Amino acid sequence: MKLIEGKPIADLVYEKCLQDIERLKAEGKQPGLAVVLIGDDPASKAYVGSKDKKCQELGLHSVKIEKPAEITQEELLSIIDDLNADDAIHGILVQMPLPKHLDSEEVIKRIDPAKDVDGLHPYNVAKLAMDDPTGFVPCTPGGCQRMLIESGIDVEGKHVVVVGRSLLVGKTLALLMMGKGEGGNATVTVAHSRTRNLPEVTQSADILVAAIGIPHFLGDEHVRDGSVVIDVGINRIDAPETAKGSRLVGDVDFDAVKDKCEAITPVPGGVGRMTIAMLMANTIRACEMREG
Ligand code: NAD
Repeated sequence: MKLIEGKPIADLVYEKCLQDIERLKAEGKQPGLAVVLIGDDPASKAYVGSKDKKCQELGLHSVKIEKPAEITQEELLSIIDDLNADDAIHGILVQMPLPKHLDSEEVIKRIDPAKDVDGLHPYNVAKLAMDDPTGFVPCTPGGCQRMLIESGIDVEGKHVVVVGRSLLVGKTLALLMMGKGEGGNATVTVAHSRTRNLPEVTQSADILVAAIGIPHFLGDEHVRDGSVVIDVGINRIDAPETAKGSRLVGDVDFDAVKDKCEAITPVPGGVGRMTIAMLMANTIRACEMREG
C-alpha cells in the first residue's frame, strides 16, 4: 500500500507559487487575497488564520475581514463590492458556512468571477463544465486531482466513483475527472445519499473518492482490492484517550481498508493539506490573468 501524503505534494505547489511570486514581483505585481469571515465559528476562524499565515509566508498581500454574525446581507454585499473594486486584491474568499440569515448564493454571485479563487461562482462552474481551462477550479477538488497527478496515478479510462455530490467537493471533482484536461478523461460515477446498493457501486471503482462527511462511513465492504482511495472527509470525533479529547478522522475507515488498497490518502495529513495550497495557486493565477 502506498500512502499518498498531502504535505510533499502541497510543498511542490508552494515551490511553484514562490517562483511565480518572484517573477510577478519583478514585473511590479503582488498577488493579493482577501478572506471574509462572518461570525466566530472556531473551525472557520482556524481555517482563515491558516490562510492568512500562508499568505504571509509566501509574500502575498493578505487582507482579513472579520465581521460579527449579525451583519446584514446588504453590508456583506457592500464589502464584496469594495473588494471587487480594490486593485490590490486579486482573489476573494468568503469563508463558508455563513450564518443562516445570510444568502450565501447571492454573496458568491456578487464576487467578480475574475476574483473568484474559490471557483464557486456560476461563471466558473460553467467554465469547468465546458472544459474551458480559463476558469477557477474549487480548491479541494483541484487538490485531489493534483494529488493523483503528482502520485503518478493516471485516471484516463479508469472508473472513478465519487461518493458525495456537493458543489464544493463531489460534483466538482466528478466534472474534473471526466473533463478533457490533464488528470481527466476518467469514466465517472457519482454516488450519494439516495444511491442504492452503495457497496456494489463503490466496489466497481478503480479510484474511490469519499466526500460524505460521516466518520469512517466507507469500510471493508465498500473497497475493492487494489483500488486507490482518496478520502476528502474531515470529521472530528471524541477521543477521550487523547489530550485534546477529540481527533480528526476521514469518511473512510482507514485501518479497515488500508492493506487492500494500492494507494490511500490519510486523514489528517492527506487532502486537507492541499486546499490552502490550491487557494494560493489560484490567487497567483488571478493576478497573472489580470490585464495591465
Ligand atoms: P456535504 O454535506 O455538502 O455533502 C455530503 C454528500 O455526501 C452529499 O452529497 C450526500 O448526498 C452524500 N451522502 C450523505 N450521506 C450519504 C450516504 N449515506 N450514502 C452516500 N452518500 C451520502 O459535504 P461536503 O462539503 O461535500 O464535505 C464532505 C466532507 O469533506 C466533509 O467531511 C468535509 O469536512 C470534508 N471537506 C474537506 C475539505 C478539505 O479541505 N479536505 C474541504 C471541504 C470539505
